[in-house]
Amino acid sequence: MSYPRHQAALEALAQRGRLRRVTPAGGWDFASNDYLGLAGSELLAHAARDALARGVPVGAGGSRLLRGNHAEHRALEGEAAEFFGSGAVLYMGGGFQANQAIFSALPMRGDLVVHDALVHASAHEGMRLGRAETRGFAHNDVGDAARVIADWRDAGGRGRVWIAVESVYSMQGALAPLPALAELAAREDAVLVVDEAHATGVFGPQGRGLAHGLACPLVTLHTGGKGLGASGALICADRVLIETLVNKARPFIYATAPAPLSAAVLRAGLRALAEEPGLAAGAVARMAHAGNEAQARGIPASSQIIPLVVGDDLRALDMAVDLQAQGFDVRAIRPPTVPRGTARLRISVTGNVGAAQISALFAAIPGLQRAAA
Ligand code: PMP
Repeated sequence: MSYPRHQAALEALAQRGRLRRVTPAGGWDFASNDYLGLAGSELLAHAARDALARGVPVGAGGSRLLRGNHAEHRALEGEAAEFFGSGAVLYMGGGFQANQAIFSALPMRGDLVVHDALVHASAHEGMRLGRAETRGFAHNDVGDAARVIADWRDAGGRGRVWIAVESVYSMQGALAPLPALAELAAREDAVLVVDEAHATGVFGPQGRGLAHGLACPLVTLHTGGKGLGASGALICADRVLIETLVNKARPFIYATAPAPLSAAVLRAGLRALAEEPGLAAGAVARMAHAGNEAQARGIPASSQIIPLVVGDDLRALDMAVDLQAQGFDVRAIRPPTVPRGTARLRISVTGNVGAAQISALFAAIPGLQRAAA
């Protein structure tokens, strides 16, 4: 069997510099989301060995609602509820599934999801599956979000409003204006849904995220595969909403439960955050150092994700290859992951590099001059 249409589509991507390939990792890690350096740590390796020694199973054997519910899942959810200060928590296999679950099952027919223009693909997947109306607002523009809600109400919208944002945008590194969004949510009797994927472990008190302590109805998503160095996702919300997910969210109901072993490892990551304030503080220090290096060269930086927007897809690829040859694992991010004409190097300040490597990377990026002090 040959696949000429698939082949042609792949060739068209290649011609535009957009063909994606999984490539081996190597060099200093400026590409992963392992912001605390936990993924390869002895701390998590020990947790895995300890769990196996305690007889924690590698596989769940079924969905949570059937035989797959395990004591490790429940223990993780209990500890996460305490750590994040949430009424209830649901553990899922990953953030992608969790966003599908949240947006397909929580907003109901007659509701409105008003989302930042740059929310993650997984939130879009969830909205596509859901029954609520969905409308975007200009990135980080709270006034525009308010206008979208007002227009919807003027046109007869009567249901509940769900405001969907990320606390740290994955490809921009920008922080959401959460206090203003929380005020808007409170004023509109809306629920603020915050994807904390890139904030968990880095921002907020001991890495609890940027939405921690906001005074409005909240759903937050903490992923386990980034700062926490493991995998999985924790949805924090009011008990009624968590119970709704358990009963309505197909990515939860019809999927094999995450491995109990993975739950045990994620528990260890959370416990480390709670017990070792130096973990999040280390990430903050690296972020500050990288921010200074970037800003001295005129590159704005607001988090541990620093985008160097190049524009042209092939040029971004060339720059990444050049830096990789010098021992820095920096990746080019191209459309459709980012808007057309904004291909970029996504510099991710991970826990696997130190100040010396950060400085060396910025010095190695062609065309960037450090401004005279
Ligand atoms: N939300 C955001 C903002 C993300 O960046 C990602 C991962 N790229 C996800 C959700 C999906 O999480 P996971 O990788 O755990 O499926």
